[in-house]
Amino acid sequence: ADAFIAAVAAGRDLNAFITETPDHAIAAADEADRARSAGELRPLSGVPLGIKDLFCTAGVQTTAASHMLEGFVPPYESTVTSKLFGAGAGMLGKLNLDQFAMGSSNETSAFGNVISPWRRGGDTVALAPGGSSGGSSAAIAARMVPGATGTDTGGSIRQPAAFTGTSGIKPTYGRCSRFGIVAFASSLDQAGSMARDVRDCAILLEQMAGFDPKDATSLDVPVPRWEDNLSGDLKGKRVGIPREYRVEGMPAEIEALWQRGIDFARDAGAEIVEVSLPHTRQALPTYYIIAPAEASSNLARYDGVRYGLRDLPDGAGLQDMYAATRAAGFGAEVKRRILIGTYVLSAGYYDAYYTKAQKVRALIARDFERAFETCDLLLTPTAPSAAFALGEKNADPLSMYLNDVFTVPASLAGLPAMSVPGGLSAEGLPLGLQIIGRPLDEQGVLDAGLAIE
Ligand code: GLN
Repeated sequence: ADAFIAAVAAGRDLNAFITETPDHAIAAADEADRARSAGELRPLSGVPLGIKDLFCTAGVQTTAASHMLEGFVPPYESTVTSKLFGAGAGMLGKLNLDQFAMGSSNETSAFGNVISPWRRGGDTVALAPGGSSGGSSAAIAARMVPGATGTDTGGSIRQPAAFTGTSGIKPTYGRCSRFGIVAFASSLDQAGSMARDVRDCAILLEQMAGFDPKDATSLDVPVPRWEDNLSGDLKGKRVGIPREYRVEGMPAEIEALWQRGIDFARDAGAEIVEVSLPHTRQALPTYYIIAPAEASSNLARYDGVRYGLRDLPDGAGLQDMYAATRAAGFGAEVKRRILIGTYVLSAGYYDAYYTKAQKVRALIARDFERAFETCDLLLTPTAPSAAFALGEKNADPLSMYLNDVFTVPASLAGLPAMSVPGGLSAEGLPLGLQIIGRPLDEQGVLDAGLAIE
C-alpha cells in the first residue's frame, strides 16, 4: 500500500483523484498482515483499489464529480464497494469522473479534468483519458492503482480503457448491484472492473458481482469462477465481425487495429465469421434519447432538500430554492441532458421520441440475438479514434457523442463487453479492441480478451 500511496501523491498533476483515503488502504494492508499470519487471507486481502466517485462509500465524501454533491458523506456503502472491502481490498481514494458519469473525456467534472499520462510521440499536448471513468483509467495507466471500479452506461468503462492502454469489462446488465451507485440511466448503468490486464479484471469482477435483493434488476444467478477458468484458447469459438461497424470515414489505423484483432483471434483458434447488426446506425440516437430521459428523472431528486447542495436565496420560496440549487449545482452537460430528457418525456413528444426509442432499442437487442445464432462473440474496435486532446471536442457535444458509436449498442442490449489493448496508433497512442458476448457469457468475453491482449 505504501508504494501506491506514494504513487498517488506523485501523480497529483493528473487530477485523477477527488478524495485520497490513504488510511483506508493502510488499514486493509495491516489487516492483510494479520490475516496472513492467522491463515485467514481473503481473495483481495490488502489490495489497494481506486473507487470511482460514483460509488457511495460510508463516511467518505461521494461527489459524482458535481458541486451538487460536494461535501455529501453517505451514511451507507454501495453493495459493490462493500463486497470488495469484504474481500479484503482497501481504498486509495475516490476517482475523478465526468459529472454524474455524463461524458466521454472527463471534462465535465466539476473538479477539473483528468489528464491522461499518455502523450503523442514528440509532443506535449494534454490528452483526454476517456470518460466517464477517466480517473480510473488514468490512475491505472499511471500505475497509481493496480485496479479500480468503473461504471458503464454507454461505454464509460470501455472507452477510457481503450484511450489509456488498460483493460475494462462491463458485465451483463444486472450482474453487479446498482445499490449505492449514484444513478445516471438506471436501465443502462452497470458497474465493472478496470485493471492493467484481463486476469486482474476477472479477479476484481468476481468479487464485485452477485445477487443483491436491494437492487430490483439484480440477477439472481451464481457468479462463476472466471479467473480459475480463464483460457486464451478460442478453439471451437466463432468470432463475429459485424459489417455495420465499418462506418464511413473510419481511420485507416482503426481498420488496421481491427484486422490485427481478427488475426489474433484466428491465431488463438477462433473461426471468423461475418455477421450483420442492421440497426447499428440507430444506436447512438436511441441512446441519446433513453439515457437523458432516465437521467432527467433520476436527477429530479437533487432539489436542495434531500441531498448535498442547498441554495436558499434570502426570502426565497420553495420553487426559488429548487431553481437556485439546480442552477448552481449542475454543470452544463448535466443541464443539457436534463433538458433533452424532460423534452423527450413531455406529453406532446413522448410517443415521437421516447416510445420510438424504446422500440428501436428492442430491435437493436434482437439484432444481437440473431447475430449470436451464427457466432459466439463479436469483435469490434472500442472507439473510432485514439485519445483526443483535451478541449478538442468540448465545444461540439455531437462530435463528443459520436465517440460512443461502438460502445452504446451493447449497453442498449445489456450485453457483457470488454475493451483490451490492441496496439498503438501512428502517433504512438493506445487503441482498444472490444469483445461483446451473449448475456452472462463474461467467461467467453474474458477468454477472448486474454487471447487478444
Ligand atoms: N459517453 C457516454 C455518455 O456521455 C457514456 C457515459 C457512461 O457510460 N457513463 O453518456
